[in-house]
Amino acid sequence: MKAIQITETGGPDVLALADVPAPSPNPGQVLVKVAYAGVNYIDTYYREGIYHSELPFVPGLEGCGEVVEDPAGEIAPGTVVAWDSAPGSYAEYVCVERGRLVAVPDSIEPRVAATMLLQGITAHYLLYGVRDTQQGDSLLITAGAGGVGLLLTQLAAAQGATVFSVVSTDEKEKLAYDAGATEVFRYSDDLAEMVRRRNGGRGVDVVYDGVGKDTFNESLEAVRPRGLVCLFGAASGPVDPIDPQILNTHGSIFLTRPSIGAYTATDDEFRMRAQAVVRAVDDGTLNLRVQEPYALADAAQAHKDLQGRRTTGSIVLRVSV
Ligand code: NDP
Repeated sequence: MKAIQITETGGPDVLALADVPAPSPNPGQVLVKVAYAGVNYIDTYYREGIYHSELPFVPGLEGCGEVVEDPAGEIAPGTVVAWDSAPGSYAEYVCVERGRLVAVPDSIEPRVAATMLLQGITAHYLLYGVRDTQQGDSLLITAGAGGVGLLLTQLAAAQGATVFSVVSTDEKEKLAYDAGATEVFRYSDDLAEMVRRRNGGRGVDVVYDGVGKDTFNESLEAVRPRGLVCLFGAASGPVDPIDPQILNTHGSIFLTRPSIGAYTATDDEFRMRAQAVVRAVDDGTLNLRVQEPYALADAAQAHKDLQGRRTTGSIVLRVSV
């Protein structure tokens, strides 16, 4: 089968189209023919070797496609499914754990389904798992027009939260407003000052920071005393080690560094969040902005655009459509 294969970690050009043997499912898995594969920032961490995978490997975790074979005979061939944690998804065929896929209703286009789960579940657990977001909460979201950022903004706005979003361009600013942001800032703004001017000098209840290295110090400054800094990504690089005393000097604040794996620890928790995302996409609460798909062979370009801050919303590879 055709797949993107990584034989050495490094820059985007290590993503090479190759002919590799198709995988075969073990009894707990289902074999799926991939229609579209989702492209996520985490794929760049594996490609660079920041997260470890045995070489050579086929990258990608997420997608949408049709079931080809279920060794247990539970899922009919041809059923359209989506998944977010199947290593090797940048390929024509992938094996998905049976407890880690959802059926896709006809109302959701496959290219949307291919990218709704990883970022959608992330937005869901950040708002309802890490902490229960309430109406009137104030949130600061970095990379507000990215894949996770737009979904986080839409869900938080639907919950009645005040959302301050941070983006880098005019186009991204418009998308953040369209998603429901209350106000949109730029990284060059003094974020702590901007939010305090707007909420009586308090600082925000929560900062959701997926940018990391470049924004972390400002995140600490922008949160209110006893508020929460939720560092959930490192698009600009990993944050330097910190002295815990810093949490005291900023007003007894909380810091967490969560992962989707920990918040979908069981099949039941995965299903609960995945079904909430499918419902929200289906009823329009979540409106995914999916860019024109890249061909599978252009995976390197997709990574270059993602890391070059040229993408907005979610991106997918067209695999076998
Ligand atoms: P995005 O679509 O948000 O792309 C990354 C965005 O980060 C860019 O578009 C850019 O937006 C912003 N950015 C700021 N500084 C930089 C920089 N120096 N280099 C590159 N980008 C920069 O990606 P995803 O939605 O896939 O992921 C967003 C973040 O969420 C990532 O850090 C990812 O690792 C994390 N994540 C974490 C999960 C978890 O469970 N912990 C799960 C899923 C994602 P702008 O131009 O506006 O700054």
